[in-house]
Amino acid sequence: MTQRVNAETESGLVNWSGSHRYQARALHAPETVEELQRLIAGARGTLQVLATRHTFSGIGDADELISLDRLPGARAIEIDAAARTATVGPAVTYAELAAALNARGLALENMASLPHISVAGAVATATHGSGTGLGNLATAVRGLELIGGDGERVTLTEDDPRLPGAAVHLGALGVVTAVALAVRPYYELRQDVYLGLEWEALAQHFDAVMGAGRSVSVFHDFGERAREVWVKGDPEDGEPGAACGTPGELYGAVAAREARNPVPGAPAENATPQLGSVGPWSERLPHFRSGFTPSAGQEIQSEWFVAREDGVAAIQALRPLGERIRAVLQVAELRVIAADELWMSPQHGRETAALHFTWRLEPGPVAEVCAEIERALASLQVRPHWGKLFPPGPAPWAPDRLADFLALRDELDPTGRFVNGWLRERLLDGGRRAGGGVPGAPRAGQPGGGAPRAPRAGSPGGGVPGQPRGGAPSAPRAG
Ligand SMILES: Cc1cc2nc3c(=O)[nH]c(=O)nc-3n(C[C@H](O)[C@H](O)[C@H](O)COP(=O)(O)OP(=O)(O)OC[C@H]3O[C@@H](n4cnc5c(N)ncnc54)[C@H](O)[C@@H]3O)c2cc1C
Repeated sequence: MTQRVNAETESGLVNWSGSHRYQARALHAPETVEELQRLIAGARGTLQVLATRHTFSGIGDADELISLDRLPGARAIEIDAAARTATVGPAVTYAELAAALNARGLALENMASLPHISVAGAVATATHGSGTGLGNLATAVRGLELIGGDGERVTLTEDDPRLPGAAVHLGALGVVTAVALAVRPYYELRQDVYLGLEWEALAQHFDAVMGAGRSVSVFHDFGERAREVWVKGDPEDGEPGAACGTPGELYGAVAAREARNPVPGAPAENATPQLGSVGPWSERLPHFRSGFTPSAGQEIQSEWFVAREDGVAAIQALRPLGERIRAVLQVAELRVIAADELWMSPQHGRETAALHFTWRLEPGPVAEVCAEIERALASLQVRPHWGKLFPPGPAPWAPDRLADFLALRDELDPTGRFVNGWLRERLLDGGRRAGGGVPGAPRAGQPGGGAPRAPRAGSPGGGVPGQPRGGAPSAPRAG
């Protein structure tokens, strides 16, 4: 089935928050894999998959879009408990996967702030949660099946040296029809929120605060102090404040007595249970509950990554812009993410502190303040979140393995069907804003420079500590 969009319909297609209007002229919904293969092989323009649309830029836009919701197996979840893997179809969300894993006594290592997003779309952009020693969600990928630009099916298993290059694929390698993820035994977490953390206390006790639980988020607005610290911890460790030495307090921040929503003014019932309540991993790791509106709804998001040890310095560098930022800010969040070895991951080779911004839906002023933020953070070798909004032009960071990724792209999509305007502007059309460039990187549509290099042995970051390895791989819905 093909639907004409934009010029041919009144409203056209928009992303989840309405901040991006897709320019695509058609939306295809193939009903068989063969139909999908023919569609890709015969495409006359660029293609991208339309998944749960929780990105905030043109990363998922193209001349024509493909919804995979009608594909057989789109919502399939196959669990191999012995191999500790779950293989999901392209339309499966984390909420659906979590329910299936819980029923089998299994779990994921980590989740993002919401369970509403598709697994395939989340790993594509290196979506992440928080946690010392916990990698982004793509580090759980143990295999991928995709249809490349020539319409051929490609399977990348765990031992394939191309998998670390394809896990964070930016939609540029083809259409992913199955993702295999590492799973682990079921666990429970308790969630506590602390109010009013002094910046000085965060600076002095950064590792202790960010390690006060399995996953920790600091919500703030670059004001006098951080507003809230959300701690998702092991129930056996008890109340995090007590574990850190002062019951009911986390380095001076006081335990909240009422449930909160991280977004000021948003209903507390949309957020996962707090006040020390213990429950399934899948209902504590995300801030927002499945089935309820996550975040604010009317918003734009941006995020930049710095080295973990520069997290507090980055906040201090931005506090002088506090008034400008607050004029369009709903909430900012500080998280930490482990280093990894995925070629296009913003955490590649670097323990990371993540500075997230939920903006008001005011594109002009937000664009201006984003440019100021990127300038203010330039000396900290800032990297952008691929799925969120950052200033136009080349990305401020060119991944070390970009040339390898582009060679892999040439191999899997030789005619550049998945090279959209976003990829061209951000990574292909020369240089990066902070100077430099990508010497020798093949351009879209050029012969790609042959087979990709195997991942370097002992490359920086060295994988994901504590995560199991093993196993093989076997629609548009707003949150
Ligand atoms: C309320 C909210 C909260 C968020 N919280 C977080 C957070 O905690 N952490 C974080 O890192 N990010 C977060 N994000 C950002 C977001 O989750 C990610 O950017 C994610 O990539 C969105 O996935 P999607 O499938 O919804 O997006 P889409 O825009 O539908 O897809 C994303 C990209 O993946 C490609 N793609 C999707 N499926 C396939 C497929 N099967 N084959 C090939 N390509 C495919 C698309 O073409 C596109 O390029 C949040 C976003 C929102 C709206």
